[in-house]
Parts: sequence; structure tokens; C-alpha cells
Amino acid sequence: MNAHVVALCGGVGGAKLAHGLAMALPPAELSVIVNTGDDFRHLGLDICPDLDSVMYALAGVADPVRGWGRRAETWSFMEALKGLGGESWFQLGDRDLALHVERTWRLARGATLSEVTAHLCQALGIAVRVLPMSDDPVRTRVLTVEGWLDFQEYFVHRQCQPAVRDFVFAGAESAQAPADALAVLERPDLRAIIICPSNPFVSVAPILAVPGIRSAILRATAPVIAVTPIIGGKAIKGPAAKMMAELGLEVSAAAVACRYTDLIDGFVIDSDDARSQPPPGVRFFSTATLMSTTEDRLRLAWEVLKAADLLGTVA
Ligand code: GDP
Repeated sequence: MNAHVVALCGGVGGAKLAHGLAMALPPAELSVIVNTGDDFRHLGLDICPDLDSVMYALAGVADPVRGWGRRAETWSFMEALKGLGGESWFQLGDRDLALHVERTWRLARGATLSEVTAHLCQALGIAVRVLPMSDDPVRTRVLTVEGWLDFQEYFVHRQCQPAVRDFVFAGAESAQAPADALAVLERPDLRAIIICPSNPFVSVAPILAVPGIRSAILRATAPVIAVTPIIGGKAIKGPAAKMMAELGLEVSAAAVACRYTDLIDGFVIDSDDARSQPPPGVRFFSTATLMSTTEDRLRLAWEVLKAADLLGTVA
């Protein structure tokens, strides 16, 4: 039986399915490759929002209400910073801050982002492997009607208000995929590659823009299956649906599937969209895809694995 599953994942939406997969599989059977295009340097700190969301979800310390950061968070640092006239548009909780300080210090001492992430996972008690898409910097920039914006400037500071026209992933073309990420994608016992329900433009696209990752996925013999981030023409959170409309695309699960046709064999749509037509070469599976509870995460993970195994049997 093929044993290893690789999940590609952005922040909050993808992290929920990654957590479901971590509950469904033994730790040695799952690796999660995470978008780093959102990473940025702020107040002298190296911040990796998607890696942090994934680690917090897998460690069981994510804030379930806010949707980002750690639960039981306190905000003394932010309050003190505001009192000093410091920049306060990007919220950093006290516990979250500790992680950024630890990462920044270790990177400054010469560790790679993969090494630092492995250390942080161990410290947080995470048993599955979490890998950045690259140790080289890749920075997502957004072309809006007001001009080019750095990703966090667009996403947090401007709250995704300016309409988008295009995206670039600066540095992606020359970014190397980490050896560990290539090794898991090239495993002979690969069971499935799962593209989690993450924003297709600014979470999944940057991962696929790293040439080594894209070509390893294209070479893989295991089934590749994606899970919709769009349910009934709407995003659960974040700007995915707004971006699709602004780019002149149909806002639908099927339109997301079309973006991945060169890579995927299967696509999991929501039961609400069960009548959508798949693009050529892609098989649709429909199930409830909204993950409101921990049980939903596990159930969706089982459904996706079942669909992937079916695709693997047919191939
Ligand atoms: P970030 O949270 O903004 O970093 O972005 P992600 O890459 O995680 O993508 C968020 C996407 O996940 C959005 O398009 C949401 O619609 C989608 N999403 C969030 N929660 C769920 C869920 O429970 N089920 C499904 N199917 N999609 C979800």
C-alpha cells in the first residue's frame, strides 16, 4: 500500500484540512508543503503567516474565533508599541511574537527556513513534517487598480480593498525547492498529492511557481487532487471570490478546477455544487466541504483520501 501523502497548503483554510489529514494519518505518512509568498519582514522580524497558521492548527493552539494567531493570546506588546507611536497595522500577539523572535534569531544565525520550521514544529509537539515551499525568499506582489502593492500591504493594511489585476511571485523563478520537499514528492510510495482549500491566486499559485515543486508534481505518478475553496459561488473567508470577480473569472468551484487542469486528476467540490461540470481530464467528487468543527476536518480528510485512492486505483 502506498503510504505517503503530501499536502500543499496556504494559511487558514488549508491549515484546517492539513489538521484533518494529520488526525487521519500516522505522522510518518504526511508532509505539508506551505506557501511562503506571504512572508515579510516587519519591525525587524521574519514573519511567515501561512507557516504559522499551519503550525498553530497542527499544534492545536490556533485561535478558533479570530481565525488567525494563537488562542489564549494577550496583547501587551501591541498596546505598548502603540503607546510609543509604533506601527500597529499588523497585529502581533505576545505569544505569537515569541515565535517570530525565535525564528528571526535562528535565521540570523544562519539556519535555513526549513531547519527553523523543523525546530519550531518539534518545540510545538507537531509530529508531521511541515516544509516551506522554498528556503529562498519568494514575495507575492499584487497589481491593483492603484498600482503594485506588497502582499501584506494589500491583504492586511488595505484589507484587500483595491481591485486586483495580476500577481507576481518575485524570486520564484530562481527559488530552489528544499531537498526535503523534493524528496517527499519523489517518494516511490507516494499515495496522493492534495491541494488544500487555499486561495488559488495567492496561496497555491506561489507554491506552484517554484519550478522544482511544479515539475516534481508533474512527474509524480500518484494522483493529484484539489479541494475547492469556493462553495456555492462564495469564499468561506478571505478575498478568493472577490479576486475571481475582479479578474473577470466566473466565481465557481469549477473555475478553480480549471486553473489546476494541467496538474490534477481529481477535484473535490461541495455537495452544493454537485451539478457543476468538470473540465476535461478531471474527475469531480462531491461532499460537504465546510470545516466548521474538528470532526468536519477529519471527515473531509477521509473523503479526500478515499477519492485519491479511487483515482489511484483507476490510473
Ligand atoms: P488565507 O487564510 O487568507 O491565508 O488563505 P488560504 O490560502 O487559507 O485560503 C483561504 C481559502 O480557504 C478561502 O478561499 C476560503 O474560502 C477557503 N476556506 C476556508 N475555510 C474553508 C472550509 O472550511 N472549507 C472549504 N472548502 N474552504 C475553506
